[in-house]
Amino acid sequence: MGKLIVQKYGGSSVANVKKLKNVANRIAFYVKRGDRLVIVVSAMGDTTDNLLSLSEQINSSPSNREMDMLISTGEQISSALLAMALHKKGIDAISFTGQQIGIITDTYHTQAKILKIETERIKKELKQKRVVIIAGFQGVSTALEITTLGRGGSDLSAVALAVATGADMCEIYTDVEGIYTADPRLIPEAKKIEYITFDEMLELAARGAQVMQTRAVEVAKKFNIPLHVRSSFSKKEGTIIMEKAPYIEESVVRGVTLAENEAKITVCNLSDKPGIAAKIFDKLASANINVDMIVQNVSHKKITDISFTVPKSSVSKTIRISKQIAQKVGAGEVLSDENIAKVSVVGVGMKSHSGVAAKCFAALAKNKINIDMISTSEISISCVVKKSSGKAALKVLHSVFALKK
Ligand code: ADP
Ligand code: ASP
Ligand code: MG
Repeated sequence: MGKLIVQKYGGSSVANVKKLKNVANRIAFYVKRGDRLVIVVSAMGDTTDNLLSLSEQINSSPSNREMDMLISTGEQISSALLAMALHKKGIDAISFTGQQIGIITDTYHTQAKILKIETERIKKELKQKRVVIIAGFQGVSTALEITTLGRGGSDLSAVALAVATGADMCEIYTDVEGIYTADPRLIPEAKKIEYITFDEMLELAARGAQVMQTRAVEVAKKFNIPLHVRSSFSKKEGTIIMEKAPYIEESVVRGVTLAENEAKITVCNLSDKPGIAAKIFDKLASANINVDMIVQNVSHKKITDISFTVPKSSVSKTIRISKQIAQKVGAGEVLSDENIAKVSVVGVGMKSHSGVAAKCFAALAKNKINIDMISTSEISISCVVKKSSGKAALKVLHSVFALKK
């Protein structure tokens, strides 16, 4: 029996009729080779963004259930069209929604978690020698409602399907030839990386490299499913994301990222005593707000400010909650600043090399880029800078760590 391969084609790979036909040709190649295929597709091109913009024009705070009803439609279109393109080539294929195939999620609309995937139907169709095409990004909740898996969620659909079916391979097809040392759209001289560890990819994704969804990498790591990220427009091998990459020697920094989708919130004039920070961040956590960097200013006369970053999409909710707490604990104003960017350097080699932070700060200083906030993990350093300096900061860091071709 041929290999069982899960292939995910992103929005850019199915953006128009010509590209859909290109995907059908690629699939035909694997079918002829004797492979069994489970295909996951994203919505065509900017479809999801366009749907979001339509909803915004109608109601700026729509119900999450209706939002899922809306944004799940894009993937249904591309999966049906791809099935038709394969039929036209004489290849037996069948498309399914997440609900039909049994991708069961929790009830958290727009950010649902996959609880379980039924595999009977997939197995049955594969046995009939059909290509199984599944609409990515969506599932059905335990309350029988349509849910979506967060932006970029088709990556997660693919990885979860690879886990559930015990696939031999999971390939993520996109519009670049793999994972690069930086977003090649921003840094044309960025280099393609042959291998990268789950941990490094997780960190790159969480810090803004949109090429893979963070949660998808988390699941791949958890189940140790290597991922092959490659281009749907070329035959070249891409990047393998795996547990332990076969490097002879670690390079200190693997890649750099820029995130422009966060905002800084500052709660002013808090009394500097135990329990205040816990109060704020407990409430934000229970409202499912993802707080990233946190900085507390030096306290003067037992009064301090706390600043933290959150996704721009959570700003109004964060301000509302922070104001309630500020009022309760007798703090001052709550300020927000959307004019920020976060640049990060990532690499497992940082564990054994010192001086990365110093080199990073010195390079930014030399280029007169002011750092507003700093945070570090074992394998990354992130700096918040003014939005207008974000791209320049990314370029400086990419070049100072010698990541160029
Ligand atoms: P898809 O539609 O296939 O899901 P995405 O737009 O989600 O594709 O992701 C691919 C894009 O991610 C690329 O076009 C590239 O600009 C961007 N990107 C950001 N960081 C990186 C990186 N380090 N390596 C490769 N691509 C990156
Ligand atoms: N179409 C969805 C999005 O744009 C899911 C995906 O592309 O992975 O976020
Ligand atoms: Mg994507």
